[in-house]
Amino acid sequence: MQAPKLHRESEMKRYRHYINGKWVESRGGAYFPVYDPSTEEIIAEVAEADAHDVDAAVRAARAAFDSGPWPQTTAQDRGRILFKLAEKIRQNAAMLAELEARNSGKPIVEAEFDIGDVATCFEYYGGLATKILGHVNPVPANALSLSLREPVGVAGQIIPWNYPLLMAAWKLAPALAAGCTCVLKPAEQTPLTALEMASWFEEVGLPPGVVNIVSGFGETAGAPLVHHADVDKIAFTGSAVVGKMIVKMASDTLKRVTLELGGKSPNIFFAEADWEAAVDGALFGVFINQGEVCSAGSRILVEKKIYSRFVEAMTEKAKRIRLGPPLERETKLGPLVRKGQYERVSSYLEVGKREAKLAIGGSRPKQIGRGYYVEPTIFYDVQNSARIAREEIFGPVAAVIPFDGEAEAIRIANDTPYGLAAAVWTRDIYKAFRVVKSLRAGIVWVNHMQPTYVEAPWGGYKQSGFGRELGPWGMEEYLETKQVFVNLDEQPIGWY
Ligand code: NDP
Repeated sequence: MQAPKLHRESEMKRYRHYINGKWVESRGGAYFPVYDPSTEEIIAEVAEADAHDVDAAVRAARAAFDSGPWPQTTAQDRGRILFKLAEKIRQNAAMLAELEARNSGKPIVEAEFDIGDVATCFEYYGGLATKILGHVNPVPANALSLSLREPVGVAGQIIPWNYPLLMAAWKLAPALAAGCTCVLKPAEQTPLTALEMASWFEEVGLPPGVVNIVSGFGETAGAPLVHHADVDKIAFTGSAVVGKMIVKMASDTLKRVTLELGGKSPNIFFAEADWEAAVDGALFGVFINQGEVCSAGSRILVEKKIYSRFVEAMTEKAKRIRLGPPLERETKLGPLVRKGQYERVSSYLEVGKREAKLAIGGSRPKQIGRGYYVEPTIFYDVQNSARIAREEIFGPVAAVIPFDGEAEAIRIANDTPYGLAAAVWTRDIYKAFRVVKSLRAGIVWVNHMQPTYVEAPWGGYKQSGFGRELGPWGMEEYLETKQVFVNLDEQPIGWY
């Protein structure tokens, strides 16, 4: 592979941090490069935050939460701001989708769907801002007890690179609807669309300090955000390894923490499943977004009665998956996000070749000279104890595992430390719901895999994390409950 080189100077853009409503340099003046993974060229430079810059962002968010206009902003106005932001995103959707595709490597058609979902997410929570309801508690008649819902405070939000702007929206929209203020740290590989979005914050009416965006690396920018005493809550999406570190770091200040940590999700195919839909669903479940999906159906469990035929059909269809530059509309599989991820996935290809049989793929595509491309790869006859069946690869790599009957399917499906998602394919409705009830996963699809709606909860069981995003559940995570007791009895307590 060629060494990275600078993209044409004229197209190079420099991005700074967005803190307290202003674009600011890092204290140390450092910048880091951001790449186009299809060309390996630098497409932008972004200011690199350290603990000092993170502190400035947190202080701005704290001040905006404690005083300033935000606490006085009505729920209706918070909702209107989110609607206006959604409108700006829709107006600039083509630019955002192109930037997202160039920076992350995802095919442009997928990026367009993502940006549409970003706008929908802001609209959804814009509507939900006015639906935060308290409660009257049924205490005896001589008192009144209320439960008030209040924003949790300053939210630190750390997001990954696979759905850059969508992950930002999943975190910012419910937090703002709830009345929180935010410090967002995008992934170092893909900060560009979030920073572009910040350029509209003032215009849509977000007061300074309500949303701050600091770019940088996990250890030097993410960790100080988690440690910071003035941050009330951390919302994190990323690897399980870092998720566990975050829980430990956050324990010093007993912050609220929500984690979305991905998984090794089973996609289960019974013999009576609709054949065409099933073969498609197996490929879509694992290869969408180059397999860089927390809910990727990377363990494909196939009933023995159809196993050989199914592997053959998947392999035949996978030959037609078009790899190519993210900006070409026919592209179905772009490059992986960065060199490190390419190397990580490539190392799993070698592990897979030792552990199982290779049906297709297994290396970089010979016809493409540069870029972090990996062929769609299908391993079969995989043991569920194999590393490629247990570890999150986060690339276009499928592990096909045979099973015999419903009980064995459930046993294998649940035999994983993760529990984010699962899917079951069958025309037998009794079986479908028996399996749904037995699966230990936060999201279970029947006869599909991956559709995600802002109205429905998203999050994992077991080591896939805790807390839920999306829907009213997503906003709940940014609310505290305050119990208010009102004495209606004019008599003294009379205890002493
Ligand atoms: P990470 O978990 O390291 O990155 C996710 C986010 O956490 C990024 O913003 C990252 O910063 C930040 N981060 C990293 N270290 C720390 C830290 N010590 N304190 C605070 N924040 C931190 O994932 P990777 O990018 O390293 O990807 C590795 C693997 O993780 C993938 O192959 C995949 O298996 C899994 N993953 C899962 C995701 C999911 O959605 N479930 C998403 C991404 C990865 P930065 O990157 O800027 O340094």
